[in-house]
Amino acid sequence: MKFIRSFLRTIGPVLKPIDPFSIQFRLTVGIGLASVLGIGGIAGWTSWRMQQILLEGHKQNTVNIAERFDQDLELYLMDKMPLEEALQQVIDHRTTANLILWVKSPADQILAQSDTLSMGSWQNQGIATELLNLELPDLVNIYPIQDRYLVVCSNPLEIGDQTIGQVFVVEDITPDQQSFRVVIRSLTAASSLLILVIIIVIAMYVRRSLQPIRRMNQLAANVSAENLGEARLQLDQAPSEVKELAQTWNMMLSRLSKAWRQQRRFVSDVSHELRTPMTLVHGYLQSTLRRCHNLSDPQREGLEIAASEAERIIRLLQDLLDLARADSGNLWFQKEPVMLKDLVLEVVGMAQYSGDRVMAQIDAYPVEAQTDRNRLKQVIINLLDNATKYSEPDQPVIVRLAREGEWAIIQVCDRGRGIPLSDQNVIFEPFYRVDEDRSRATGGTGLGLSIVKTLMEGMGGRVKVQSKLGEGSIFTIMLPALQTAG
Ligand code: ADP
Repeated sequence: MKFIRSFLRTIGPVLKPIDPFSIQFRLTVGIGLASVLGIGGIAGWTSWRMQQILLEGHKQNTVNIAERFDQDLELYLMDKMPLEEALQQVIDHRTTANLILWVKSPADQILAQSDTLSMGSWQNQGIATELLNLELPDLVNIYPIQDRYLVVCSNPLEIGDQTIGQVFVVEDITPDQQSFRVVIRSLTAASSLLILVIIIVIAMYVRRSLQPIRRMNQLAANVSAENLGEARLQLDQAPSEVKELAQTWNMMLSRLSKAWRQQRRFVSDVSHELRTPMTLVHGYLQSTLRRCHNLSDPQREGLEIAASEAERIIRLLQDLLDLARADSGNLWFQKEPVMLKDLVLEVVGMAQYSGDRVMAQIDAYPVEAQTDRNRLKQVIINLLDNATKYSEPDQPVIVRLAREGEWAIIQVCDRGRGIPLSDQNVIFEPFYRVDEDRSRATGGTGLGLSIVKTLMEGMGGRVKVQSKLGEGSIFTIMLPALQTAG
C-alpha cells in the first residue's frame, strides 16, 4: 500500500501534463499500438506455429505406430506365435512411459493392452477406464482428459483378409504441453517488456523531437507590443520543418512590427497636427465668449458647447500623443524629490472648486518620492475625475496618502457604482469602457486610465484597483518612497 502510494506520488507529476489531444500523446499511442500489434502478432503467430509443429509431430508419431502395427504383428505371427501372445509382444515392444496401446476385437473385447495401462499414473483418477470406454473414430485426435493432454489414434487391424480388430495408440503429451506453456509465458513476458521499453523509448524520442516546437511556443509567448521589434525566434538545433516555421514567424513579426511602428507614428502625427489648430479654435471660442457681451442666449450656449467639445478633443489628442510617445519610448519624465502631501493637497484643492465632496486624508508621517510632479498630478486628476464622474454628486471622494514599507501609497476612493470584477483587468486598456453609453455621456475619452497606467509605469510605480459593484472603487497608485528624516 505504502509502495503504491509513493509510486503514484512519483509518477503523478509525469501523468498530470498528459494531454490526450497533443501530438506527443497521439504519436506515442499510435506507435505504441503499432508495436503492440506488431510484436504481439509475431509472438502470437510464433506460439501458434510452435504448438502446431509440436502437435503434428506427436500425431504423426502415433499414426506411424498404429499403421505399422500389422507389419510388426506379422513378424511375430510368422514365428507361429499365437495371435494374443503376438499382439502382447508388439504392444510391449512399443509401450513407453508416455505411450500406451491396446487392441480391441470387433466384438469390443480387449485382446491385449499395455501393462502400464493397468498401473501407475494411468490408473489414477480413472483415466485408463475413461480411455478404454472412449468412442474413438478412425482418426488421430487430441483429447484433454482430466488434467492430461492425450494424442489418441485408432486404426483397423487386418492381417491378410482377416480383420483382427482395432488398434489404439495413446500418447501422453502433458509434459510437452507444460514445457510449451512455460515457453509461451516467457515469450509473453519478454514481448510485454519489449513493448514497454519500446513505448518508453518512443515517448522520450517523440518528446525530444517536439521540444523545438515547445521552445518556439515559449519564445512566441514572450513577444509583446513592447519587444515586437527585437523579438526573433532563434532555433538552432531544430528540424528543418520547425526552422522554416520559425523563419515564417520571424518574417511575420517584422511585418507586424513595421505595421505597429507605422500605426504609432500615424497616431502621434495626427494628434500632433490636430492639437495646435484645436487649441487655436478653443482659444478663439473662449475669447469670443469673454469679449462679446451682445451674444444672444442661444448663441452663447452654442459657443459654450463648442468650447467644451474643443477642450475634450484637445484632452483626447494630448492623451493619444502621450500614449504614442510612451509606446515608442519618447515620453520623458522630469523626476525630482516631491513632498506628496503638498502635491495631494494642491490637487484636492483644485478639485474642491467644483464642490467640497473631495477630501484628503493624509498620514502625519511625511512621505516623499522621486517623481515627475506634473505627471503625478495628471494621474491623480484623472483618477479624481473618474471618481467624481462615476459616483453620485452627494457621495464623498477621498484621497488618502500613506506610506507602506518601501512604497508611497495614494488612494482615490469613491462610493460610486463600482466596476464588475471581469472588467477590472481591462479598464486600463485604451478606449475600454465598462458601460459605453454612460461613460460617453460623462464626457470621458476612454483613455484616462491607460494614461494613468502608462505614466505610473514610466515613473517606476504601479496602479491597481479594488472595486465592488454598487459599493464603490479604490484606485491605488504606488511609488517607491524616499527615505525621509521624520
Ligand atoms: P473614461 O474617459 O471613459 O472615464 P477611463 O480610461 O478613465 O475612461 O476609464 C475607463 C472605464 O473605467 C470608464 O469608462 C468607466 O466605465 C470605468 N471607471 C473608471 N473609473 C471608475 C470609477 N471610479 N468608478 C466606476 N467606474 C470607473
